[in-house]
Amino acid sequence: MLTKTNQECPTRFPMPSSKPEHVSVVDFRDAFVATLQNLHGKSLAESTDQEKFIALAALTKEIISKNLIETRKQRAHDKPKQVYYLSIEYLLGRLLESNLVNLGIRDTCAEALSLVGIELNTLLAQEEDAGLGNGGLGRLAACYLDSMAALGLAGHGCGLRYRYGLFEQKIVGGYQHEYPDNWLKNRSYVWEYRRPEEKASVRFGGTVRVHTNGRTKFIHENYEHIWAVPYDVPVVGYKNEIVNTLRLWSAEVDISSHTCSIYGQDCNNVISYKHGAESLTDILYPDDSHYEGRVLRLKQQYFLVSASLQHIIHSFRLHHSKLSELPDKVAIHINDTHPALAIPELMRILIDDYSLDWEEAWSITVKTISYTNHTVLPEALEKWPVSMLEQLLPRIYMIIHEINERYCRDIWTKNPGDWDRVRSMAVIADGQVHMAHLAIAGSHSVNGVAKIHTEILKNSVMNNFYTHTPNKFSNVTNGITHRRWLLMANPLLAKLITDAIGPSWLDYPCDLTKLTPFAKDAAFLEDLAKVKLQNKLNLAKYIKHKYNVIVDTNSIFDSHIKRIHAYKRQCLNALHIMHLYNMLRENPNIKMTPRTFIFGGKAAPGYYKAKKTIKLITTLADKINKDKTINGKLKVLFLGNYNVSLAELIIPASDVSEQISTASREASGTGNMKFMMNGALTLGTMDGANIEISEAADADNIFIFGLSAEEVLNYYRHGGYNPWDVYNSDPRIKTVVDQLVNGFFPVDQNEFRTIHDALLYHGDEYFLLKDFSSYVSAQQQVGETYLSKSLWQQMCLLNIANSGWFAGDRTFSEYAAEIWHLDQPLPVWCQCQSQALH
Ligand SMILES: *Cc1c(COP(=O)(O)O)cnc(C)c1O
Repeated sequence: MLTKTNQECPTRFPMPSSKPEHVSVVDFRDAFVATLQNLHGKSLAESTDQEKFIALAALTKEIISKNLIETRKQRAHDKPKQVYYLSIEYLLGRLLESNLVNLGIRDTCAEALSLVGIELNTLLAQEEDAGLGNGGLGRLAACYLDSMAALGLAGHGCGLRYRYGLFEQKIVGGYQHEYPDNWLKNRSYVWEYRRPEEKASVRFGGTVRVHTNGRTKFIHENYEHIWAVPYDVPVVGYKNEIVNTLRLWSAEVDISSHTCSIYGQDCNNVISYKHGAESLTDILYPDDSHYEGRVLRLKQQYFLVSASLQHIIHSFRLHHSKLSELPDKVAIHINDTHPALAIPELMRILIDDYSLDWEEAWSITVKTISYTNHTVLPEALEKWPVSMLEQLLPRIYMIIHEINERYCRDIWTKNPGDWDRVRSMAVIADGQVHMAHLAIAGSHSVNGVAKIHTEILKNSVMNNFYTHTPNKFSNVTNGITHRRWLLMANPLLAKLITDAIGPSWLDYPCDLTKLTPFAKDAAFLEDLAKVKLQNKLNLAKYIKHKYNVIVDTNSIFDSHIKRIHAYKRQCLNALHIMHLYNMLRENPNIKMTPRTFIFGGKAAPGYYKAKKTIKLITTLADKINKDKTINGKLKVLFLGNYNVSLAELIIPASDVSEQISTASREASGTGNMKFMMNGALTLGTMDGANIEISEAADADNIFIFGLSAEEVLNYYRHGGYNPWDVYNSDPRIKTVVDQLVNGFFPVDQNEFRTIHDALLYHGDEYFLLKDFSSYVSAQQQVGETYLSKSLWQQMCLLNIANSGWFAGDRTFSEYAAEIWHLDQPLPVWCQCQSQALH
C-alpha cells in the first residue's frame, strides 16, 4: 500500500478538518500589545525587537496551550497507541514561524503586527536556533515530530535539554573556531513548560545485592541519584488543533536534603557537588558519524533512557493495568543506538519493579522497541567497555550480560559449531558491549534509511543478523517536512505552486505531481526562474552584508552544505574548483558558465582533517575571490555557522545540490531532499537517497557520476585501487594535488600536507582521485545544461513535482503502519508515483 506501484489508488483518507484559529487582526494586535506590556512593563515604543519577539512567542504559546490541554483530554478518553521517539539529538531550528503556520494564523499575525509598524520577519529573526543536534540525524528527529503532529498521531519525542547546543562556529583567519552555543541566554526557552512535579530519579554507580528467598531479587544500593526534570516543548500539528510534546530532560540535584556536614562541614562542597552533577546535561557531544567513548556521554544516554522509560511506564499505568498489553499500547523507537540502553532499562523496570519473570519481560521488551540504523561507517558504531558499564550501571550491565548469554545460545542452537558467527554477533565481545548488536537483539524491527542502505545492512554489514532474523529487517526511506522546507523556507515558490495547482499539496505532498504538465508551459517556467532569482538575490544580499563579497546572481549557485566529513568529500569539490581556476588562469577567455560555489558546515572540534578541509576551502576562496584576471567567473564562499536557519536561506537560492559522498557511505542524506523540493538539481553519486531521487525525478533530471556502491565495497574488500596510477596518468589531477603542497597557496607549505598525503600515501580511502575525472565531466555537463534556460527550468520543475515522496509525512506513515502498528487510518501515498513527461 505504501510503496510506489501502478495499482489503482484507494480513496483518500480525509485529513483532519482544518479549523484555523478565528482570531481577528485587531484582536491579535491588542492581545500582542497587552502581552508585551505585561511581560516587560514597557510600552510598544520602548520595547526592543527581542522583547517583541518574546511577547509574540508568549501569545502564540497561549493559543498552543489551549490545544495542548484539549489534545491531552481527548487522548485520555480515546487511549490511542502512543509512540515515543527516543533520540539523543533534536535539531529544531526556530519554532515561531512554524508554530504560527501550523496554527493557521501566520497571515493574521503578520497583518496585526503591520498595524503597529512591525515586520513579522524582523521578529522571526530574533529567535535563536535550538541546535540540540549535530546534523541529519537530529534534523530527522525534528522533521518526524512535525509529521507525527500533522497526521494527528500520539507521537512524542524524548530527548535531553542541553544547556549548550552544537557549538557556534566562527571562521577566524580561515580556521574554524568553536564558541559555546548559549541558546538559553535567559535560562529558559520561550516554548517550554517546566514540569518539576514529573521528575524522575536516575541512579548511577553503587552495587547490586542479590537476595534469594524463593524468588531472586536484585537490590541496587549505594548509588548516586540525579533528578531528571522534564521540560515539555509543544509540537503543533498542521491546522488540526493537535499538540504533541517533545520532552527534554534536564539534570538537577536537590541539595535541600543534603546536610553540609557529610561533605566535610562546608556547604560550598555541597554546592559544588550540585554543579558537578547537574553538568550532566550541559553539552551536546559535537561528533557526527563518529563514536566517542566518554563516560559522560554514557551517563547522558542512560539518563535519557531511564527518565523516559520511567515516564512511559508511569503514563501507561495511568490508563492500563496489565503490563502484558504494553506492546499494544506503546511503541518505543530508538533513533540510532544512542538510546539502546532502553532495552535493558525496560527489562530492569519490568523485572525489578514489577516482578515479571525474564521470558515475559523479554517478550514485552522486544515487541515494544524498534530501532533505526543510521550509519555503516565503522568509526560510528558504538562500543562501550564492559568495565565502564559495570561500574556506572551495575544492574543494567547484569541484564546486558544475561541478554548476551541467551542471544549467543540461540545463535549457537541455530548454527551449531559456528563460533565465528556467534562471536561476530555477540552483544558482549572483546571486553566491549556492541550497542548495535544489543539494539538488534532487543527490538522487533530494524530499519535502514534508504533502499541502498538497507541492502548494504542486509547483505554486508549486518548480514549475519539478517540471516538469523530476516523478518526484523526493513527499509523506511527518510523524509523531510515539506511545511518547513518548502512552505516556510520558500514562500515565493509555495505561492507559485498553489496558484498553479491549488493548496492540496500542503496536506497531500504527492499532489505536487500535478505540476508535471507545467513542464511544457513556457510562461510558468519563466515564473519559476524568477522565483529562483529572487531567492538568489536574498542570499546575495546576506553574503554582501556578512562577507562583503559581491556574487553574480546569474551565475550557477552551487551549494555543498552539510557536516564536514571525509566521506562527504568537500575536498573533491575543492579540487574541482582548483581545476576550473587553473583552466581560467591558463585562458581567461575559455568558455565557462560562471559559478558561485557555496560551502557551509561544521567540523567536529577534534577532527583534524575536517578542520583542514575548512582551511583549504577558505584559502581557496581568498585566492579566487581576489583574482581580477578571471573576470568574476568564479566565486567561492564558506558561510560560517551552518545551522537550520542558514539552510533555510541557502537551499531555496541554490541551483545545484552537491551530494557527492563516496558511494555506500551516506546512509540516506536529507539535505538532498530539501534541495530537490526547492528545485535545485542534484549533482551526486549513486548513494543513499540520491538513488531514489534519480528514480523519482527520472535519471534525465539529475547529474550522476562516480563509482557505484558495489564497486567501492569491492575495493574495500579486495583492494586493487592505487591512487598513484590515477595521479600519474591524469595531468589535471597531478596539478591540483601538487598545488596542495607546492606553494600555490600563500600559506605554510605543510598546511595541507595531511590532505595531500591522505590522497597519495594513505590509499585515498574515499576515492577522490578515482572519481575526479567523472566528477569533472558531470560538472561540465551541469555548466552546459544551465545555458539552456528552459531545459534547466524544466528539469527543476520535474524535480519539484516528484519530491512529494520525500515528505516526512510519507516516511512517518510507513513507520506508523509497518513498524509501530498504529491503528489510526493514514493517508495513502500511491499518488506519489513519478510522472514522466510525455
Ligand atoms: C538537513 C540538514 C543536515 C543534513 O544534511 P545532509 O546533507 O543530509 O548531511 C545537516 N544540518 C542541517 C542544519 C540540516 O538542515
